[in-house]
Amino acid sequence: MTAPQTFNIVVLPGDGVGPEVIAAAQGVLNTVGDFYGHRFTFEEHLIGGAAIDATGDPLPPETTAACLASHGVLLGAVGGPKWDGGPRRPEEGLLGIRKAMGLFANLRPLQVSPVLAHRSPLKKEIVEGVDLIVFRELTGGVYFGEKTRTADRATDLCEYTVGEIERVTRAAFRTALNRRGKVTSVDKANVMETSRLWREVVTRIHAEEFPQVQLEHALVDSMAMHLIRRPRDYDVILTENMFGDILSDEISVLGGSIGLLPSASLGSSGPGLFEPIHGSAPDIAGQDLANPVGAILSAALMLRHGLGLEDEASSIEAAVAAVLAAGAVTADLGGALGTRAAGAAIIDAIRAIH
Ligand code: ATP
Ligand code: MG
Repeated sequence: MTAPQTFNIVVLPGDGVGPEVIAAAQGVLNTVGDFYGHRFTFEEHLIGGAAIDATGDPLPPETTAACLASHGVLLGAVGGPKWDGGPRRPEEGLLGIRKAMGLFANLRPLQVSPVLAHRSPLKKEIVEGVDLIVFRELTGGVYFGEKTRTADRATDLCEYTVGEIERVTRAAFRTALNRRGKVTSVDKANVMETSRLWREVVTRIHAEEFPQVQLEHALVDSMAMHLIRRPRDYDVILTENMFGDILSDEISVLGGSIGLLPSASLGSSGPGLFEPIHGSAPDIAGQDLANPVGAILSAALMLRHGLGLEDEASSIEAAVAAVLAAGAVTADLGGALGTRAAGAAIIDAIRAIH
């Protein structure tokens, strides 16, 4: 157990269901803090559409400054039809804050609990017990390479440096050490030069620094199949920006509801950014319908990967698992609870554990 500390958390509720799910996550953090003697101070700032409405800017300078000075940032969601066609887009706020915070690794864990396996589009036997985490590189690759366009020709440059590959690779191996000790690195080394460099660097870091971890390489096309056929075989999946974007969306449907899934974006030092993978869900916003679990599990990732509070993170995850097993869930999972009641059920479960 870690000595009691005070943590300055910036919350960016954002748009749509963001404020509702973030409020639930704050309640859970306060409860865990009480049990372990930590204090979380929450400083709320504007981002996305809410920031455009208030200031004209999707990422006001005060928000960036506060995030950089914090111990961790908890974000709800940004965007919605209200800002379509406007002069500024809410999503600029998200891209801007990721860049300003120097975040280079995006983590998306997926666990499929036996009680929810029947909600998966795949057979229960295939997804039951899946427990994997994707490490997606966030700063390089084809998304950020030079782009050219003439009337009859377009190019996107795919570029990676050794340093960019090394830092996300180390983060993935370090996480594997605390899990089942297996990394699957995904590339397209039979075709792409950046993938050949990727494979070389991952192989070297493995041999020099993490020989105790089991490493395998997979081509992204066959990986897309394996994830559907035998998702239980994977522990840590490490990949570059675009492959990670595509595979993490593929993986997100295995679990049954997008409302369950958390994410973390990490830099080399300094605070990380933690957010549910779902969007602002304007269709259900403001109605106490959103599933708060993705935001609550994002708070758990903040404790584990951002603040070094492993026991505290595990206690949130255990409470969520207990509540899901008991069927105390929101409408997206076939339950009758609202956002607030689902958050309260998780708080009760934390109390029951301690
Ligand atoms: P974005 O572009 O921001 O990713 P999107 O339109 O792709 O947004 P979401 O906003 O995540 O996706 O919504 C997709 C669907 O999932 C919607 O029907 C929404 O109601 C549902 N959904 C999203 N988040 C939740 C949640 N926390 N609980 C329940 N349903 C959700
Ligand atoms: Mg989307």
